[in-house]
Amino acid sequence: MKAYKTQIKPSDKQRCKIRETIGVCRYIYNFYIAHNKQVYEKDKSFMSANEFSVWLNNVYIPENPDKKWIRDASSKAVKQSIRNAEIAFKRFFRGLSGFPKFKKKRNQDVKMYFVKNDAKTVIECERHKIKIPTLGCVRLKEYGYIPRDEIIKSGAVSEKAGRFYVSVLTGENPDTVNHIPGNTGVGIGVDLGLKELAVISNGQVFENINKTKKIKELEKRLRREQRSLSRKYENKKKRKEELTKRSANIEKNVHRVQKIHDALSRKRQEYVRYVVRILVKTKPKYITIEDLNISGMMKNKHLSKAIAGQNFYYFRKWLEYKCKQFDIELRVADRFYPSSKLCSKCGKKKADLKLKDRVYICDCGIQIDRDLNAAINLERCTEYKTA
Ligand SMILES: [Zn+2]
Repeated sequence: MKAYKTQIKPSDKQRCKIRETIGVCRYIYNFYIAHNKQVYEKDKSFMSANEFSVWLNNVYIPENPDKKWIRDASSKAVKQSIRNAEIAFKRFFRGLSGFPKFKKKRNQDVKMYFVKNDAKTVIECERHKIKIPTLGCVRLKEYGYIPRDEIIKSGAVSEKAGRFYVSVLTGENPDTVNHIPGNTGVGIGVDLGLKELAVISNGQVFENINKTKKIKELEKRLRREQRSLSRKYENKKKRKEELTKRSANIEKNVHRVQKIHDALSRKRQEYVRYVVRILVKTKPKYITIEDLNISGMMKNKHLSKAIAGQNFYYFRKWLEYKCKQFDIELRVADRFYPSSKLCSKCGKKKADLKLKDRVYICDCGIQIDRDLNAAINLERCTEYKTA
């Protein structure tokens, strides 16, 4: 499951519908809480979301014809708001939070939820628009933000400071990657690194995405927006204004910073999935990777930022997931297997290999890229456990 949130540009009619639905959802949320407040005061319990839904539809609305407008809102959205209120009650009963509070209009944290109706229907999303149940096609502000090869399972529309957003939860579409008919019988070794993301024993090289123009540009934009944000706060300080109150200008700037952060992490994850997809598509019998001590490496402050940007952890998880899906054996080399120190031609071990030695040179005459040498050794590694 992955989550995406992006701004939408609903038409006037759609805006009305969104506000109306959110209004009904807030009303029902508060109604559930008010109702349960009485139940709680009487016998220290509460009515479940399901019971409340049944009572609302079969007893309350028929008996109160002036409340028929509740039915005009999407029933899925109304149900979800009751469920959210139930969660608040459950938290209260488990001692995790105070008695549930009513939602006020000015604190707009009520959303309009939507879900896939059944297994067959899909929530269609194109580069520039998304089809939301009960709303129809809504234009997206940022084109292509929501990946089209993932299935949207559910989502919510919200409004904040006059802007409208859609957030969706997706699962991967099983149809987008073709099932692989059979393994080719060969294995591959994958050497993960900081200079390149991955070097494969067959000679393929996947560059470090942080060195690409796209990411560098985004990072530059991020720095610029962050600087301008801190300048705005500095000025506030000089004017002796309260720092907790954000002006519309600061709000906008915070939003821009957040958006670039999102874009960066999305691009990095997309890239990892792309690399894994290519590895899996070569139909190997097995894939061998190193047992990277990521948490240990993260403690090194010189390395931690570079490692975080490479998404090694995500790479490992996604590779595991994909190997399972396609029945490929995933081997993890023993942590002490000297994949970079061994000569991939004669098998001799070079104990004094330094980190800066980019080319592996051996007495047997071989001169080979250090990472490729390591990848080939990983491919041949026999000391491993299966993940
Ligand atoms: Zn050698």
